[in-house]
Amino acid sequence: MVMNMRMQKEHGLIIAFDMEDVDFAANLAKDLKGAEGNFAIKIGRTLEMQTGKGIIAKIKEFSDLPLIYDGKIADIPYISRKIAENAYGAGADAVIVQGFVGSDVLNEIVDLGLGDVIAVVEMTHPGSDEYIQPVSEKIAEMVEDIGVDGVVLPATRPERVKKLVKIVKNAYVISPGIKAQGANPGDAIINGADYEVVGRAIYEADNPKRAAEEIYKEAIERCH
Ligand code: C5P
Repeated sequence: MVMNMRMQKEHGLIIAFDMEDVDFAANLAKDLKGAEGNFAIKIGRTLEMQTGKGIIAKIKEFSDLPLIYDGKIADIPYISRKIAENAYGAGADAVIVQGFVGSDVLNEIVDLGLGDVIAVVEMTHPGSDEYIQPVSEKIAEMVEDIGVDGVVLPATRPERVKKLVKIVKNAYVISPGIKAQGANPGDAIINGADYEVVGRAIYEADNPKRAAEEIYKEAIERCH
């Protein structure tokens, strides 16, 4: 059994693996070895759907970076636990769960004790304003009380990051929405996030490894 890596509350860049080409994903994981910066890999459903959970083990074979399974789990406690168990069992160090599904689902996964649990508090897209944003402060309080390891806050809304990080004191904060969704590298980190998440701007770049190193550098330099 491979030991899970726990992610730390520190600055870094999480590379979203949402591509549909499995060989490209495996090659990028290999290519990122030795990249300059503090990185983690987040495997999304679009990539997982190509092969199933085996993609987590495959990426792990080629990479020593922490691996996050972004299933945005949002089901009843029993099913959510099964999804999380499968992801951890395949080698995920962390899983992402929707916060809005409630404390019973989050407790079920935290109680497994198999790896990090990251809860989505508020999302990046405009529709997040309709139903999630009005309750996101309560979601933040609930996941902080449960003791999740990380939370997702939207880099596209830096003022929300600033506000919500005050509620989430212990968990690390990861923030997507950089570049393709309009935020600039560093927008979330300067407002209190720990990691920024970047997908398309890296895996669609001519040189994804270089793009990852440059975006990381740009984000980190803004906090000095
Ligand atoms: O390609 P792009 O950089 O926009 O990718 C953003 C990544 O972050 C995607 O994997 C998406 O699923 C994820 N994400 C997000 N907003 C959230 C939670 C996760 O964009 N609130």
